[in-house]
Amino acid sequence: MNLNTIREVKQPRSADEVVRWRDGYAWLAGGTWLFSTPQIATDTLIDLRALKWPSLQVSEAGLDIAATCTIAELYNFKAPPEWTAAPLFQLCARAFLASFKIWNAATVGGNIVMSLPAGPMITLTTALEARYTLWPRDSAPREVAAIDFVTGNHANVLQPGELLRNIHIPASALCKRFASHRSSLTHLGRSAVFLIGTRKPGADELLLTITAATPRPVQLGFDRAPSAAELSHALDKAIPADGYFDDVHGSPAYRRRLTYYYAEQIRAELEKQGAAA
Ligand SMILES: Cc1cc2nc3c(=O)[nH]c(=O)nc-3n(C[C@H](O)[C@H](O)[C@H](O)COP(=O)(O)OP(=O)(O)OC[C@H]3O[C@@H](n4cnc5c(N)ncnc54)[C@H](O)[C@@H]3O)c2cc1C
Repeated sequence: MNLNTIREVKQPRSADEVVRWRDGYAWLAGGTWLFSTPQIATDTLIDLRALKWPSLQVSEAGLDIAATCTIAELYNFKAPPEWTAAPLFQLCARAFLASFKIWNAATVGGNIVMSLPAGPMITLTTALEARYTLWPRDSAPREVAAIDFVTGNHANVLQPGELLRNIHIPASALCKRFASHRSSLTHLGRSAVFLIGTRKPGADELLLTITAATPRPVQLGFDRAPSAAELSHALDKAIPADGYFDDVHGSPAYRRRLTYYYAEQIRAELEKQGAAA
């Protein structure tokens, strides 16, 4: 849609050119959300694409994803063979309630900053233990663990004008085995529940990430494989019965039931994979 409140679109070569942040400014990434609804309070867009950050960089330490990397680029990324968790990139891209046309514009960073419970890039990067690099306007860059970034439905730790610059996924997480389950009330609909479990090769620990079911991601870590009862008890403790998200994509009761069901399936699947390895 046309945004008729916009008076200026800035195209800086460097983020440092945007020194003084004021009300009315907004960073523009793919624009798939910004142009989908009136932006009454915004008069200036600052186009992040002009910064030309390299989208994906592989190193021994892992994968660096620029906030401006599109969903399509991530989907088409060819990961090194030892990154056994890399199929999650495609799996999470397909969890968007969106066609390939949106994938070509929407960015990984835009999805994370939107901080919606059903944000699949939040699911992906949280499950893979990512760290985000944030660029405040008036102080030194800072880092935050993905699990600590989203604070609620459409809420996060960013200060006004602060930029999400980079998402670093460590190689240690990319080399893990995984199991995942996702549910949506409608075919190709927004996620109501999206759980991913990961495990180091040759180990029996478990990292379980719960998203979409709750307003913000919840993560449970176990040093050794939990029993079904231990897992269920840990869920009881981590998420109170009234801690599940409520919107048109699923009632709290539905989300709660599926969270326990999928968590147990993931636990059993990782056990089975371990036994087969
Ligand atoms: C058809 C359709 C389906 C969708 N399906 C889903 C879905 O299933 N799940 C979901 O979560 N969302 C969904 N969305 C919402 C949204 O489009 C996506 O979250 C998308 O990934 C946003 O990315 P973008 O690059 O287009 O962000 P933009 O629209 O450009 O920006 C979104 C917001 O983030 C800010 N921003 C963007 N990048 C940065 C950055 N690097 N640092 C700081 N602030 C930044 C912008 O200022 C703006 O406030 C959908 C949208 C459409 C149109």
